[in-house]
Amino acid sequence: MSSERTVVKAKIVITMDSSQRVYKDGAVMFEDSVITAVGRYDEVLKSGKPDISYEINDGVIMPGLVCAHTHLYGIALRGAILNITPPSDFLQILQRVWWPLDEKLTNEDAYATALAACMEFALSGTTTFADTYSAPNGIEGSLDAIARAVNEIGIRGVISFEATERRSEEEGRRGVEENIRFLKKQDKGRAFGMISLHASFTVTDDLIRRGVEAAEKYNAPITIHVSEGPNDLYHNMERYGKRTVERLKETGLLSNKAVLAHCVHLNYDELQILKQTGTNVAHNPMSNMLNAVGVQPLPEMLKLGINVGLGNDGYVFDMFENMRSCFLLHRVARRDPNVIPPQRVLNMATVDAARAYGLYDIGSIEVGKKADLIVVRPSVLATPLTGSIYGYIINALRGEDVKMVFVDGELVVKDHRLTKINHEEAERKVLGIIEDLWERLGTAPPEAVEPLKLL
Ligand SMILES: [Zn+2]
Repeated sequence: MSSERTVVKAKIVITMDSSQRVYKDGAVMFEDSVITAVGRYDEVLKSGKPDISYEINDGVIMPGLVCAHTHLYGIALRGAILNITPPSDFLQILQRVWWPLDEKLTNEDAYATALAACMEFALSGTTTFADTYSAPNGIEGSLDAIARAVNEIGIRGVISFEATERRSEEEGRRGVEENIRFLKKQDKGRAFGMISLHASFTVTDDLIRRGVEAAEKYNAPITIHVSEGPNDLYHNMERYGKRTVERLKETGLLSNKAVLAHCVHLNYDELQILKQTGTNVAHNPMSNMLNAVGVQPLPEMLKLGINVGLGNDGYVFDMFENMRSCFLLHRVARRDPNVIPPQRVLNMATVDAARAYGLYDIGSIEVGKKADLIVVRPSVLATPLTGSIYGYIINALRGEDVKMVFVDGELVVKDHRLTKINHEEAERKVLGIIEDLWERLGTAPPEAVEPLKLL
């Protein structure tokens, strides 16, 4: 089979390579799924005549964004009316919002929520994500349903079932087994497997060790929520006499294959343990703000050289918004306008997030890497793109500005439209399934809601 050579040309190419090279009037060439040339357009053309050419005037070519931590099924909560007493802390948010939801989820819901979330991810420029799914009453086969959605849209997903013993030890074991089953499966397309545990306050040391063993055996990443709210820390201090990261270290979970989500309530000793063990962190600033859990010590982590990827935790699926929130949150929290530069934030949402999951062949635009790239063109170009480009991206761009998305060299979004599925048909399918899920959740229809009393 002869290979097909494609060239994409734009005003600016941001590589995010180790030298952080940026090219004006640049281009990227790839053959099938692999990048073969990057640089100025005239230079790139010297490496061969393209079969297909795309040119986006005043556009920016950049690596596809990588979301380091998500819950695709979280999209089902968007706009849902929940008949609950409003939660007053993070544990109550889990008990009253997330757990009643996940207990209702079927494999059909897993597929529909994954399809909806992957549509949004693709259309807003995210080409890879790391997902953990939770459904105590729909464990077996759930990852096949999610993988089907991932492959229908055409982006990459590191997917997993979140093992938890919050209801029983048996369900914890079955959760790990579902991950192992999926890891062993052949022909997963663009879906990858990993091991996922919920959080240190819902799993025993035994289950953690079981997860670590499986991750080692199948050479897979392992992820867990860590000290998102203070209850995690209190639990470990009371029951084990250790802080969360200390306990995880003793169970053997920490390594450069581990990704700890959140890490909000960590002290400096715990940060040093993360550094020493090469453990990765997934930072979810928008979710942390939504759940009012606090502010992660990101500046200290970066200073220590801990690898931190940016995630959305199943909340807002436009990673441009997540990048902007990260940029702003730490400025206001530290009252320091220089605390984190825009370029650093983009690193966290591309190459650093990819590295966290051992995906060394994506995350930056370099010869030999996979052709996962996006072309962004602001709807209104009020100022030239040739100034402070990282500042432009973080301060001004939105997912809606993403015009083209390539994954493995395949065009999965063109003119801000999905190419592999019929958008309207997919939307109708998703809406029907989620309406049914809402009914099972017992959410009140709008007419049953009491009108707001204005004070
Ligand atoms: Zn999470």
